[in-house]
Amino acid sequence: MTAATLIDDLFSSGILIETGVDGLYGRSGAFEEVIDRFNALITRFGGGDGATRVHFPPGISRTQFEKSGYMKSFPQLAGTVHAFVGNDADHCRLLAQLQAGEDWTEGQKPTDIVLTPAACYPLYPAVAKAGALPDAGKLYDLTSYCFRHEPSKEPTRMQLFRMREFVRIGTPEQVRGFRESWLTRGQEMIGLLGLPLTVDVANDPFFGRAGKMLANNQRDSGLKFELLIPVNSEENPTACLSFNYHQEHFGSLWGIKGEGGEVAHTACVGFGMERVALALFKHYGMDTDAWPEGVRKVLWG
Ligand code: AMP
Ligand code: ZN
Repeated sequence: MTAATLIDDLFSSGILIETGVDGLYGRSGAFEEVIDRFNALITRFGGGDGATRVHFPPGISRTQFEKSGYMKSFPQLAGTVHAFVGNDADHCRLLAQLQAGEDWTEGQKPTDIVLTPAACYPLYPAVAKAGALPDAGKLYDLTSYCFRHEPSKEPTRMQLFRMREFVRIGTPEQVRGFRESWLTRGQEMIGLLGLPLTVDVANDPFFGRAGKMLANNQRDSGLKFELLIPVNSEENPTACLSFNYHQEHFGSLWGIKGEGGEVAHTACVGFGMERVALALFKHYGMDTDAWPEGVRKVLWG
């Protein structure tokens, strides 16, 4: 089954609903049920760690977004929210442009909101504002819809998708220990679902020529690992979970410090909720009632 036939199957069975835009889909109740059950499985593995749950809407402050450096690294993926802020005359022009099928977006002005590119982005400035870290550091559990401008016919590459993340903030030892434990847990979890998996070192899609160096450095330093599951094809398995160690990057950018003034290290583990659901649909078929008993038991108990 290729990516094209997989997406056709998902559409024809109503699991995903077409909108005319690649990567922007409606989800069926059955699809959401699988996401809910996978969320519960994640909580079964990580719920005992005492993470603080935080929910942000899928937008971040433009000021914080600018400071985050995202436009330096991933300008091709960012999505900004623009709005009409004109007067009556501007409105008349806008309506005329719409009527004539002309470009009406030139008058749209940037708002103070940018679409969230990764669930953890709004967290760091909030943690910095809360003051010095306790000795035990902090652990957060976040979920957000995220936007990335990467339209694709591959159902696993969406423009709006959900990411659940655990974020650990503390000493290098605390943060590395967290990432190690989730590397093991992630494999156990996906193994329980009977899905084939590999874990590999990875890099983020840094933009441009300078980005090549950043990507190489990230790989060479082992800062990003991914858990991959074949979904669209056997040859190019899909990253469904990510394990990222940012070292001091976000701690020094936002000024997150311990009691003694030492800059905090951070790491996050990200679950691509739609990707895991799609992996399950791909491997077990479009009818969740017909999924293998063992898999149903893990998800539905
Ligand atoms: P990343 O920050 O790129 O490591 O993304 C975290 C997780 O989100 C990845 O492991 C994927 O499972 C998921 N993800 C990233 N990009 C997309 C996308 N375009 N569509 C669906 N899921 C995605
Ligand atoms: Zn993150």
